Amino acid sequence: MTPSTSFDVRRPVVRSYLPAYLANAVKHVRAGGHAVIRATPSWYLLLPCDDDGDMPELAAWALLDLQLTKSTRVRAGEAKGLVRARITRELRYIVEGWIERDSVEKKSTTVVTLDCVACGACCRDNDVLLDKDDFARWREAGRTDLMDGQFLRARKRKLKLLPNGDCVHLCGNMCGIYEVRPDNCRAFPAGSECCLFARDEAREKAEARAKAPAV
Ligand code: SF4
Ligand code: SF4
Repeated sequence: MTPSTSFDVRRPVVRSYLPAYLANAVKHVRAGGHAVIRATPSWYLLLPCDDDGDMPELAAWALLDLQLTKSTRVRAGEAKGLVRARITRELRYIVEGWIERDSVEKKSTTVVTLDCVACGACCRDNDVLLDKDDFARWREAGRTDLMDGQFLRARKRKLKLLPNGDCVHLCGNMCGIYEVRPDNCRAFPAGSECCLFARDEAREKAEARAKAPAV
């Protein structure tokens, strides 16, 4: 029997609110959820934040998934202390997808069971940027072979992808250099919007392949 490698992650549920129901949105966010406020003219994301100004990891990664670099701490009113970030019109379809996905959820957070060993979705069609710490780690571990051009691209600033989109170090669904993998791979949080997106994309591709007529 194959040992189970699955684990549970509690993740925020995304809900949308009209500005008139801000109090409900705030309650949802303070309970660990993420809220989309459909204000006019701009929608915005309302996210949790602790007293030191630090956001939970999955909230920070929701911003990263949207590539939102600007966010502010709400200074007054019922949402005081929470983080808000403007959602541009072009990004609305992404948060609408999150809201639709979570419309079945009853609470502000939900538990998702994941198994990275059976998945590997974030190791495909990605853009793993390397920095000097990664090269230092490889040197220290005696793995200077990983600096060879066959494993790198973009002037040695990224890991190479194979023609099928797999990371050059992916073996099945597992990382072939797990102990010395780059910092960006270490930082990627399971259960984040980026993780869920990668899994959805991988599933859609697998379904399309299954439907494609055999050649
Ligand atoms: S996409 Fe998520 S579940 Fe899949 S391997 Fe990456 S972190 Fe794990
Ligand atoms: S180095 Fe390993 S963890 Fe990082 S993308 Fe490649 S296979 Fe995945």
